[in-house]
Amino acid sequence: MIHFDYIRVSTTKAAVDAIVKDSKAQWIAGGTNLVDLMKKGVMAPDKLVDINNLALKEIKKQSSSLLIGALALNGPVADNELVRKEQPLLSLALQAGASAQLRNMATVGGNMMQRTRCPYFYNPDMPCNKREPGTGCGALKGFNRMHAIFTDSEKCIAVHPSDMSIALVALDATVLVSGPKGDRRIPFQNFHRLPGDMPQKDNTLERGELIVAVDIPDNKFSKNVHYLKVRDRTSYAFALVSVAAALDMQGSTIKDVRLAMGGVAHKPWRLPEAENFLKGKTASEAVFRQAAELSMKGAKGYGYNNFKLRLAPTSIVEALKAASGKK
Ligand code: SF4
Repeated sequence: MIHFDYIRVSTTKAAVDAIVKDSKAQWIAGGTNLVDLMKKGVMAPDKLVDINNLALKEIKKQSSSLLIGALALNGPVADNELVRKEQPLLSLALQAGASAQLRNMATVGGNMMQRTRCPYFYNPDMPCNKREPGTGCGALKGFNRMHAIFTDSEKCIAVHPSDMSIALVALDATVLVSGPKGDRRIPFQNFHRLPGDMPQKDNTLERGELIVAVDIPDNKFSKNVHYLKVRDRTSYAFALVSVAAALDMQGSTIKDVRLAMGGVAHKPWRLPEAENFLKGKTASEAVFRQAAELSMKGAKGYGYNNFKLRLAPTSIVEALKAASGKK
């Protein structure tokens, strides 16, 4: 049995101090991923710092954005009237994640911090550069059906598992954090990272930095949105490929567009070339196909996941068709 201490804190400062003082301590909120990781022996914190009492649950309209507290729960955020009206893409992505039970435990901050579900990462007997740097990547020549097709390093080909994060990167959200050096804002696009030489590091947070909120700027993506998630079961399964599509349409003309994919990279994968191509075009399946082709530059399969090279562009086209209303 592995012993660990458990404390509860009620201020952000106390939460940060507790982690800074103890290099093996971990915050816990919903615990929907961390508890699994502890049970499997992948993570072994010597102290759990429970942050559920912090006042970070509010969903608040600001002058030109929507602020969502880091401890707001995924289910209630998806159902929130303001979120559904102003940021429906986020609501759709949240509803596609996990199960109703998990959505009612998991927090927004925890959703962003969840670790990959690569099976080699969860098995301490297998090589895994993310769990134990320098041991190799079991998935590279192993069973890699769920893995990335876009990466900057073969040290890790795992994918980021969150649906919510795919919508947030498409919506140009910002992550608000509080840490030992003060507060800072991180553009969502820069929050998660590609593996490079440090696959053990999922994001750009520094030790002791706590996510306090996510801020989503106002936009005109309240009507033509779609979150397409292709998975092995219709519920409680991670994405093989997912696409977040948001369009600002004037008649059939695409005035503005945001596109991001999940299930294809170590971080939520934005599609800037496809977005630039689509702006100003008349919506049609042919145009969507061209955008999808542009998005696949640099994609590479690793064997079992080769099917994603076809599934990904097809999913982009289908998501754009659904968002635009074009059959
Ligand atoms: Fe580990 Fe990443 Fe390789 Fe999976 S893909 S075995 S998480 S290094």
